[in-house]
Amino acid sequence: MAFGWIDEQARLRRRAGLVRTLRPRPADSPLLDLASNDYLGLAHHPAVAEGAAVAARTWGGGSTGSRLVTGTTELHTELEHELAGFCGFEAALVFSSGYAANLAAVTALAPHGSLIVSDAGNHASLIDGCRLARGTTQVVGHADPEAVRKALQTHEDSAATAVVVSDTVFSVDGDAAPLAELAAACREHGAGLLVDDAHGLGVLGDGGRGAPYAAGLAGAADVVVTATLSKSLGSQGGVVLGPARVIDHLVNAARTFIFDTGLAPAAAGAALAALRLLRREPERAARARAVAAELHARLTAAGHEAVRPDAAVVSVRAPSPEKAVQWAADCRTAGLAVGCFRPPSVPDGISRLRLTARADLSEAQIERAVRVIGETRP
Ligand code: PMP
Repeated sequence: MAFGWIDEQARLRRRAGLVRTLRPRPADSPLLDLASNDYLGLAHHPAVAEGAAVAARTWGGGSTGSRLVTGTTELHTELEHELAGFCGFEAALVFSSGYAANLAAVTALAPHGSLIVSDAGNHASLIDGCRLARGTTQVVGHADPEAVRKALQTHEDSAATAVVVSDTVFSVDGDAAPLAELAAACREHGAGLLVDDAHGLGVLGDGGRGAPYAAGLAGAADVVVTATLSKSLGSQGGVVLGPARVIDHLVNAARTFIFDTGLAPAAAGAALAALRLLRREPERAARARAVAAELHARLTAAGHEAVRPDAAVVSVRAPSPEKAVQWAADCRTAGLAVGCFRPPSVPDGISRLRLTARADLSEAQIERAVRVIGETRP
């Protein structure tokens, strides 16, 4: 029977306790949200919703075509200009998602004969970019600049290019990559550095300008950054930031740019409104970091095994995938939404609860979250 093999896969998944199901979120959810990626609490901000509404009324419900045909509005170029300025890069290009931005950047910067050095903890979209690219990928240990150096040394005889690819903040544990050391290793070997700042933009760096800005890498000729508009900026879409010649290259060579419909105007309008808000209220970034530090301190004081956060993600270890699912479900029953990461989304096989340290959480909400996590601990 066609697709019959799917039933066997489903059976194995059930047996391993790894079945995933969708749960629609009502508009008026009573849950305290520590599960979303809305780090700055901007997704529901009136100015952001209004930015989306005005853009939809002005430019329509969709962008009507691919970016090179009809899908580039003045709003897209305005957003690109402001994102580049904010993050300190020469140019920017927006995509319909961060996933598409990562596929574009990796494939366009790693041609045939090139070497891609990829951190073992990288996000799935970077991994898929490596799989699609014509270059050869070498996966190296997590956050290990020495391993990166060794990998680049093996490539030195060849005249071809090399690019080092890493998340700036890893999505599972919320730990930061050693960006300055990675950049130094790249420079020793003439390699490019491509980093995904999905969890750094809006949280790290002066006023949320991102992890590369914080590491002194903004505007560097050999650094390219990707990010999503769907986390701190409370919208949807992705962006690549870098030297103008890299951005021009993406416009001409990146398939997820050329063959994809342009970012929806409402998403562009929401992201632009959020960016302007962040410029006016830069303290939101520091507040997200402070909430993360406080959550971590309270959780570890209560005896939980939590990773010290470098940005706004706090990860708490769970004893098993089944217990992680049960723990998250019990939190939900008690009115708290938390993320639950388990295989295959965790490279080391260890399941975790994943908490978002939103900038708009009150002291009372932080206290309640920690209490519920403690009371429901398996
Ligand atoms: N990179 C990282 C590190 C992410 O966590 C995500 C989102 N989960 C993405 C890229 C993809 O971004 P988007 O959701 O905008 O496609």
